[in-house]
Amino acid sequence: MQSGTNSERPGRTMTETAPRSFDDLLENVISAGLCGKCGGCVSVCSANMIGALTLDAEGFPVYEDREKCLDCGLCYMVCPNTNSVLDEVKARFNWKSPIGHHVDLYPARSTDRDVLKAATDGGVVTSLLMNMLESGYIDGAVVSSNSEGGRRKAIVATSAEELLQAAGSHFGELPHLEEVGENYSNYVSVIRYATKSAPVKLNKLAVVGTPCQIAAIRNMQALAIVPSDIVIFTIGLFCMQCFEMDHLLDKAFLTQWGVSREDIRSMNIKENFILTMQSGLKVQIPMEEIEQIARTACLKCTYFANDYADVSVGGLGSPDGYTSVMVRTIRGKMMMADAISKERVEKKERGWDKQSMITLIEEFASRKRSRGERYLADILKPGGSPDGTEIQDG
Ligand SMILES: Cc1cc2nc3c(=O)[nH]c(=O)nc-3n(C[C@H](O)[C@H](O)[C@H](O)COP(=O)(O)OP(=O)(O)OC[C@H]3O[C@@H](n4cnc5c(N)ncnc54)[C@H](O)[C@@H]3O)c2cc1C
Ligand code: SF4
Ligand code: SF4
Ligand code: SF4
Repeated sequence: MQSGTNSERPGRTMTETAPRSFDDLLENVISAGLCGKCGGCVSVCSANMIGALTLDAEGFPVYEDREKCLDCGLCYMVCPNTNSVLDEVKARFNWKSPIGHHVDLYPARSTDRDVLKAATDGGVVTSLLMNMLESGYIDGAVVSSNSEGGRRKAIVATSAEELLQAAGSHFGELPHLEEVGENYSNYVSVIRYATKSAPVKLNKLAVVGTPCQIAAIRNMQALAIVPSDIVIFTIGLFCMQCFEMDHLLDKAFLTQWGVSREDIRSMNIKENFILTMQSGLKVQIPMEEIEQIARTACLKCTYFANDYADVSVGGLGSPDGYTSVMVRTIRGKMMMADAISKERVEKKERGWDKQSMITLIEEFASRKRSRGERYLADILKPGGSPDGTEIQDG
């Protein structure tokens, strides 16, 4: 067994005794309470037509048919908690501590009133995707949308209307990548979708996701496995945590803050967790207080600024009504420049300071990392993780 440390790493490192299989994920990640339900493992198994895995009723990956498992280890390698190919991903993205490589950072907002009304912050995500779609850079975007019964579901939006409908942040769980894997991960499904229901061929997808989801996609790309080949652009959300909706809307929790479920108009996360009431009043809940209802896996997670996305976004560091846009790649820079030149998105010209924004984002990344370390300490026994391998944080 290898071991070693690298304090510059975001995320955790489990040193390798290859080959690994889903049994190892069950033991080292899922049973250890580290699974953020990103859906990456199920996606990769279904994308490669193996079909050994599925999601259970709670959204955790489980064997659908153990007999089909080839012990290929792909599910293990794409999982954002094993860091199997992290060095490769870091090298591709020229990663540096503490919030990753970035070429630009600024507050911006959509120029579209409807988008601004529906969006969480400045609507940059929605307007950027609308522009990319209309300009033919992408055929569709995996976003989170309303489905029957008001539940959220990952969809591939192929029109401006669908993108508008999906605007806003959804802090509940969403096994986003499973959708990619099931429907858009292999050529057969893509062609079937393209010929039956979509107006265009879906060869070029953008994906919006939390850091764990984007990390799983980058792991797939580093391993050159489907469905990552058709994901040509990623928009990464900053992420302090996500919630099980029942906990978020738990009566006892809301009562502590003098709020009832019916009063809430919208939610947002910036420096604090912010509930906006129907009356317009804002209730600011400090981040430490929200920990009691966050998912266990999120408390043990150390990703924050979505270091491997083309463009990372959040509300943190920007005035209300603006999105903080952290551009990380050349492609990200080109797409933002195109949206700005076509007046779909506008940069905030005055009243902000880049260094202050960076400092704040770094501070939150470091707070999240410390929190992750604290919670991880519970599962880190002296000398190693539950399976005896070493887990590090960075
Ligand atoms: C779980 C979660 C935690 C977050 N934590 C923070 C934080 O701690 N600090 C911070 O500054 N910002 C955080 N954000 C990001 C912030 O809430 C905004 O999404 C971001 O600033 C973009 O705003 P916008 O107005 O440009 O996006 P919009 O134009 O409103 O578009 C948002 C897009 O994100 C998609 N989306 C929404 N929810 C999800 C989801 N759960 N998974 C994948 N895609 C989704 C929507 O479908 C839509 O396409 C978080 C977002 C989420 C979903
Ligand atoms: S076949 Fe491969 S990807 Fe699927 S469960 Fe088994 S080890 Fe994981
Ligand atoms: S890949 Fe995602 S869903 Fe699968 S075990 Fe890892 S965190 Fe959980
Ligand atoms: S905190 Fe965010 S990135 Fe980490 S597991 Fe939870 S949803 Fe994923």
